[in-house]
Formats: sequence, C-alpha cells, structure tokens
Amino acid sequence: MVGSTSEPSDADAMDDAFTYNGGRVDPGESANIRYGISETYLGDPVRIPVTIINGEHPGPTVFLSAAAHGDELNGIEVVREVAHDWDHSDLHGTLVCLPVMNVPGFLAQERYLPIYDRDLNRSFPGREGSTSARRMAHRIFTNFIEPCDLGIDFHTSTRGRTNMLHVRANMDDPSVARLANAFSSHVIIAGEGPSGTLRREATEADVPTVTVEMGEAHRFQRKLIDRALTGVASVLAEFGVHRESAVHWPGWRTVIAADDEKTWLRADAGGIVDMKRGRGALVREGEVICTITNPFKEEDDIVTVEAPFTGLIVGVLENPVVYPGNPLCHLVGLSPDTRTALENERTKTESQSQLRM
Ligand SMILES: [Zn+2]
Repeated sequence: MVGSTSEPSDADAMDDAFTYNGGRVDPGESANIRYGISETYLGDPVRIPVTIINGEHPGPTVFLSAAAHGDELNGIEVVREVAHDWDHSDLHGTLVCLPVMNVPGFLAQERYLPIYDRDLNRSFPGREGSTSARRMAHRIFTNFIEPCDLGIDFHTSTRGRTNMLHVRANMDDPSVARLANAFSSHVIIAGEGPSGTLRREATEADVPTVTVEMGEAHRFQRKLIDRALTGVASVLAEFGVHRESAVHWPGWRTVIAADDEKTWLRADAGGIVDMKRGRGALVREGEVICTITNPFKEEDDIVTVEAPFTGLIVGVLENPVVYPGNPLCHLVGLSPDTRTALENERTKTESQSQLRM
C-alpha cells in the first residue's frame, strides 16, 4: 500500500469513520442527528434522534438503544445520559446512541406502533418494500445496528407490571455471554429471544446484543437508571472502549437457564390483588405472595397464592386487578450458593434492598 510507512493519513482516519446513509462522523467527532425512518400522514418525516460519539482512538463500535416499545422510558434516560455525558476524547471506539427508536409509539405513549399495533421489536431486521414497521426497522438496522460490534437494547416491563433490573441474553454465544456478564446485573435470563427482536436479529447478524429489562413503563426510576449507567460503564471497560472505567462485579449473580426452575404465576380467579412482596424479593416455598379478593372482601372468596418453590421475584404486577390467567409475578429459582449470597447481602442492607432492585 502506498504511503503505508508514513504518518497516519486522511485515508487511515477515514477507515475509522462511522458512516451511515447520508453522513459520516470521523474519529474525534460527535454528532447529534435526526434521521428519517418514515413519513407521517401529512408527509412529514418521522425522524429518530441519534447521537454518534466517535472516539479519538480506534476500538469497537457499540450501540445503545431504547424505546423500541414507545412507553418504556427508563432506557431513554440511560441512553440520553450516555450520549450527553461521554466525550469522544476519552473513548477507544464509537458509541451509537438511539434513545427513541419507536417515535410514533413514543409520541402516543404506547408500546406498539399506533394504528396497526405493530411491534417494532418483532420487526427486525426489517425489509424494504414491506410493512411500515419493517421499513422503519430496516432503516434503523442497516444504518445504525449492522455497523456495530456489540449492542445493548433497553426495555422495561409491560405497562401495569414492573421487573428487577436484569439482562436477557443468548448465553450459548460466547461473545454475547461476555457482554451479558460485563453488564453487572444480579440476574441474567438465558435464551436467544423471539425472532424479530433487535437482540436476536442483531446477534444473528454478528452484532452480539443483549436486552436490559428495568422497572416499569411510563416512569423514570432514578435508582434503576443509575444502576444501568454503571452497567454501561462496566461494559465499556470490559471491551476497552473506556479505559478509565472498571469492570463492576454486582456482588452476586445468577444465570437462569431455559430449563431452570422459573414460572409466571398466573391468577386462577378474577379480582383485586393484594400483593405482599415486591420485585427483588426472595420468597420461600409455601409463602403467601398475594391474595385475590372480590369487591366485598368476603372471607369465603379470598384466593391465596403461594410460592410453589423458593425463589426470587424478578417481575411483578403493579396494577392490582386481574382476570383469570393474568400474570401475577415472575418467579425464578436460585441455586443454594446464590441464595446464601443474596441472604447475606440482604442482612447487610435489610431495609432498602427491595427498593434498590
Ligand atoms: Zn419492551
């Protein structure tokens, strides 16, 4: 190659540029972009906000995305704070920040894309010439996901429920497992995820990706947001993107495999729920998790729901009304070692522990 022994040339710098259809961000530059992914009924552009921070030093390209479901807000704040606070002068690599992917859903404060109720997070990698959801997914995927080396997609529980901060990841894939472990959550739920989800389709396109689930829809939950920011810094340390950060160990961790003990406890009666335990609670086999009562609170009609095994409440109902078959809580079993570690931690910080999950 001509000039290969000389000082780094413009051509070398160009190799590390982040390019997308219509633009580029060179090393040592940051850019806030509004990128068109569709058009409204009025023919106006539907544009997603994107921040690209291209570090002064070469390294991996990492995407952080949120609000594929338009009412799941916690991740928006995580991605916004990363985009605002991190500087290209500190980075070995590039950050691609996508705080709001499902713009129509976000504007309506709805989970799905409005009108046809399409799930953007079942529409990846998307396709040109297909449905509006797939076209949007395609524009996001080709421009901002495929050029990356790894990624984190932030979600919350569905409206009316809440969950502990946890990671969902295909732990059979070593690069995904490395990413999942680096995020420093207590709980990792293993599995490849449904087809059409960003994490599964990105991972299959050689961009190892995990989902982070945290809290409830329609809220900013500061403690969860801070813990997620710690997780992001830990991932960036693990992959050498930010060398001043350290990989963070959460104190204890459990990986829930597909065949491990776990269940969504469902209501067998319709009624009003009195939930006794919150997200992050450790419950013993036979312990009462909640009761379901009729409008008159008649004693004869009280349904008591007990834990079928000792475990951790990862997700739980917030809106206290159920039809038969509605989920009450997501309970996962724990190994004896994990249970001991968790109990030790809880004795130390007894009063606050549930709230901090
Ligand atoms: Zn979601």
